Amino acid sequence: MPPARIETVVVDGLALANQIRDELAVAVGRHRSAGRRAPTLAVVLVGDDPASASYIKGKRRACERIGMGSVERRLPASAGERAVVEVVAELGRDPAVDGILVQLPLPKDVRPNAVAEAIDPAKDVDGLHPLSAGRLLLGEPGLRPCTPLGILEILARHEIPLEGAHAVVIGRSSIVGRPVALLLQQAHATVTMCHSRTRNLPELCRMADVLVAAVGRPRLVKGDWVKPGAAVVDVGVNEVEGHLVGDVDTEGVIGRARIVTPHRRGVGPMTITMLLRNTLAAFEAREAR
Ligand code: NAP
Repeated sequence: MPPARIETVVVDGLALANQIRDELAVAVGRHRSAGRRAPTLAVVLVGDDPASASYIKGKRRACERIGMGSVERRLPASAGERAVVEVVAELGRDPAVDGILVQLPLPKDVRPNAVAEAIDPAKDVDGLHPLSAGRLLLGEPGLRPCTPLGILEILARHEIPLEGAHAVVIGRSSIVGRPVALLLQQAHATVTMCHSRTRNLPELCRMADVLVAAVGRPRLVKGDWVKPGAAVVDVGVNEVEGHLVGDVDTEGVIGRARIVTPHRRGVGPMTITMLLRNTLAAFEAREAR
């Protein structure tokens, strides 16, 4: 017998993000009223990739809307690693900057790890510095990567129980898969991490109470991979014939999952919101020193 149809909630990540941004705006306003400067995010863009330029424009607008300051540093694609590292280090010394984000991808001759290591850990709002990654691994307080934070926030705001739940994460990148697996584990979920060499991926997914797909493969996760009542988070953004699709076959999941995040207005707006929240946290930590 087919499983009973479930009323699936399609997560409105934009509405959730706006709600949190309103809360952040209040906090920023409180600092301003107390005579403090505006928390400020610096974004570094290397090269002229139009998608990256549009992302940083979105980040600048998001800062402005909640009263945060924003700074932009643009370098040509030919700048080279040393110049990028110098700009990042200089922003680290700038007392008016609270958060530093280097827009990815970087040109081939600039190693992302070398740039991440140049970020002042106190301003590492994307959680990429080895110290931030180490603190996450050890369960110590610190700045966490934004997409994983946004995923946890979506699950919390939809009251998805994590304690004792089986979470399956597809993808093991340092920016999404690995950190989200650690955050889920810290929330007392039992976590299975899957990747390109995993055997029996559909069977493992069918065991998940919480399924996170961060793969970059269009509609990899089919409806019948999802356990009835599971929470499904689709992180993927893939271009197929000029259209963007996620890693999950959303239509196939509707009627089975308890919640599913759509590939548009799902995780994306929450990622930027967590960047703002991290910038505020970095500002408050520096002010308290
Ligand atoms: P990534 O660095 O390319 O990592 C992809 C992961 O998926 C790798 O661990 C890879 O395994 C695994 N994988 C690839 N093919 C697989 C398959 N057939 N079965 C199982 N696992 C497979 O990607 P990422 O940076 O984590 O990003 C993942 C997706 O999320 C992309 O579509 C990206 O655009 C999107 N994204 C969205 C946001 C947002 O805010 N919405 C933020 C970040 C990323 P191996 O390790 O074995 O290679």
